[in-house]
Amino acid sequence: VAEEYPSSAALFDGSFAVRQEEEIERLKELEQAFAREEFCIYLQPKYRQRDGHAEVAGAEALVRWVHPGRGLVPPGEFIPLCERTGLIRQLDLLVFEKVCLLLKRWAEQGLAEVPVSVNVSRQHMKTAHFLDSYRDILQRTGVDAHRLELELTENVLFTTREIGEARDLIERIHQLGMHCSLDDFGAGYSSLGLLKDLPVDTLKLDRQFFADSLHSPRSQAVVRSILSLARALEIESVAEGIEEEGQAAFLWEAGCDLIQGYLYAPPLPTAAFESLLPPANN
Ligand code: C2E
Ligand code: CA
Ligand code: CA
Ligand code: CA
Repeated sequence: VAEEYPSSAALFDGSFAVRQEEEIERLKELEQAFAREEFCIYLQPKYRQRDGHAEVAGAEALVRWVHPGRGLVPPGEFIPLCERTGLIRQLDLLVFEKVCLLLKRWAEQGLAEVPVSVNVSRQHMKTAHFLDSYRDILQRTGVDAHRLELELTENVLFTTREIGEARDLIERIHQLGMHCSLDDFGAGYSSLGLLKDLPVDTLKLDRQFFADSLHSPRSQAVVRSILSLARALEIESVAEGIEEEGQAAFLWEAGCDLIQGYLYAPPLPTAAFESLLPPANN
């Protein structure tokens, strides 16, 4: 048997070596990107329904790599490598600081200070004292922490298998004055029990819930019951990845608080997002 497949074994070894080389190359590029400050943030608006029309009520910050040759690189193409190499901590803090400085500027310019949420990688959350750096940045920038929300993925909370630890973490986020949301809810095997144990402020329903465009009565019933549970627990609800008018109509009617998705707006450069903001009503 061994003789039958010598070439495929060699091929495998060869491609593995190539992949390793590629990874080292990409890592070098990534480290340079940090040194050259090639990362920026895009803001995707979250909309609320008010008097029959949707208005901007917040944003999620999403990182982008402005690559000198390749243009705008989406996070899916470099976050996994950041996570494998520990660079993710640096990236998340960089994004967080950019958002703090932005909120500070909005306050100075008299723009409506809508809340902005920032993603936190699960790798990052497991490290001891990880919130210390967030506290330092809050203090250094002097931003109003109530405008900030950390998005934690439910995966995080699952793999730690320590609901108690996750709850402590959320409480410490609250002590810093920030809000906390449970991201990608429903993307994996979510448990409603999590909502009983974790004092999150916001629940982000993953777009997997809307995969059938909410055409089936079953998926409508599931979404309705999650929204009503969130409401009963006084947890704000956000539906993610909404692309169709019909989905939005259903969600508004079912009592969803906020909608984020291409239907209303894609992630935008900060200046484009700012042009959507009304002046602050002082
Ligand atoms: P996420 O946190 O679930 O963010 C939402 C993703 O869905 C974003 O992709 C957004 O552009 C995309 N999206 C928004 N509306 C729609 C829609 O209507 N349809 C579809 N198909 N997609 C939509 P993006 O910007 O490529 O980010 C991908 C993931 O990368 C994020 O998923 C998040 O997990 C991660 N990420 C982004 N920025 C950061 C960051 O600063 N730190 C960390 N740790 N992760 C980040
Ligand atoms: Ca997110
Ligand atoms: Ca999400
Ligand atoms: Ca996601």
